[in-house]
Amino acid sequence: MAGDRGLVREDGDGDGDGAVDARSRALAVETVAYAVESGLMIGGDVAGTFTHAPVSCGPTPFPRDAYELARETSPGFAELYDRVSRDDEFLRETLRGAIKNDDFTAALWRVYEESGGQEGRVGTEVGVLRSDYMLDAPSGLPLQVEVNTVSTSFMALGSKVSDMHRHLAKWSANNDEVPDLSAIPENDALACAGDTLAAGWKVMGSKGKIMMVVQPQERNMFDQRHIAQYMFERYGVHSVRATLAEVNAEGALRDGTLTFRGDDIGLVYFRAGYTPTDYPTQGEWDARLLIEKSDALKSPSVAMHLAGSKKIQQKLAEAGVLEKFMPEKAADMRRVFAGLYSLDGDEGTEAVKLGLANPAGYVLKPQREGGGNNLYSEELRERLEQGGDLGAFILMQRILPPSHQTLTVRAGKVLEIETLSELGIFGSYLRVGDEIVMNKHGGHLLRTKAASSDEGGVAAGYAVLDSPLLV
Ligand code: ADP
Ligand code: MG
Repeated sequence: MAGDRGLVREDGDGDGDGAVDARSRALAVETVAYAVESGLMIGGDVAGTFTHAPVSCGPTPFPRDAYELARETSPGFAELYDRVSRDDEFLRETLRGAIKNDDFTAALWRVYEESGGQEGRVGTEVGVLRSDYMLDAPSGLPLQVEVNTVSTSFMALGSKVSDMHRHLAKWSANNDEVPDLSAIPENDALACAGDTLAAGWKVMGSKGKIMMVVQPQERNMFDQRHIAQYMFERYGVHSVRATLAEVNAEGALRDGTLTFRGDDIGLVYFRAGYTPTDYPTQGEWDARLLIEKSDALKSPSVAMHLAGSKKIQQKLAEAGVLEKFMPEKAADMRRVFAGLYSLDGDEGTEAVKLGLANPAGYVLKPQREGGGNNLYSEELRERLEQGGDLGAFILMQRILPPSHQTLTVRAGKVLEIETLSELGIFGSYLRVGDEIVMNKHGGHLLRTKAASSDEGGVAAGYAVLDSPLLV
């Protein structure tokens, strides 16, 4: 491939799994070139090195009606989780078992309590959420995997993947063909995320800077930086990136205002703080509490973070619970619920039986975010047999999506693999006092993983960023 030396490698490790035909190879070269040119990038293993994000070289078929159902129901979930976050008693009761059995949930709960619970909140909630779905092959319905209320990622890279797939469709077409781009929906997730956060910052009187709380070893920094860049260019707002350790060392409260390195902070946007490894010492917890106690707008508040717990998701699926929070929309929203079972108390005994009778038909989930924590099949069986207090887990019906053959490229390596996909629908949400001033669909994302992998995970190396081809 003249002039394209080094863009892709086929079967670089010699294991024979990467052989693709010349057409696929040319498509992969164009994919990598476009990805790099458009900033569809992640950090490399060594400081100062970068690579393109793992992507598919074209969109993956996804039924249009399922996409539309997911899209239409998603704003209801933003409102639902915000309503849940405002119900102290419900949070307290539902999370009781998880607080008792899981240190991380307990520590988040302490931040909630020590920052004053509901009274300590600023009265405004701004959310960049993502509701995730897998297509359930038997019913044809998009069943919800979870709603992410904290540290949702891939708004920027997701938008860029859609742009790239639209470009590749045109690039692959012959000169006299006009490709049907309507099947690859345009994706404004990056703009939606930036507009939503900026709207929250304006509600706070356009005070100071926006702080983006990040992990020290982040590789997905460009996904975050594209948003900061967008807000800077469009609204002139400055962002500052800070780890929780840096907030602990260099953050302070001045009459309730959060300051960092001397600057006022009007809005804190969390892209870290969702997993126990983000809190290696008490200092990081002190930083989280400092932020929570400040009058900065938090995206999300710790209450909204807690509302996004797996345990809450399971509770909402119980008869009458969703209906209590969302009387108007519950019937529609329930259509996308998968089977969810409590492992607390008496009903827990029934759920354990259910799981043991068919370990491959369920997923066992602890109160964690960020991938790699769920138990499947044999591990699920072992954990259920082990017994003890399972209050920090929930049991979920395993969703079985259809598989596809997908051409992928990761760190320049081209692979055609059998895959399963998960559709994410982003949400843009802003509540000021009791008034919801913004709640809309905010773009989408398809994550496509090797069919052989239980979890996937783009950063973990099993999944690629993708976009839906509506069929
Ligand atoms: P996390 O908060 O860690 O992202 P998820 O609930 O999203 O947890 O689960 C992680 C991954 O596990 C999902 O992206 C999906 O690939 C897989 N998974 C989760 N729940 C199910 C399910 N019910 N059926 C099939 N796969 C699932
Ligand atoms: Mg997830």
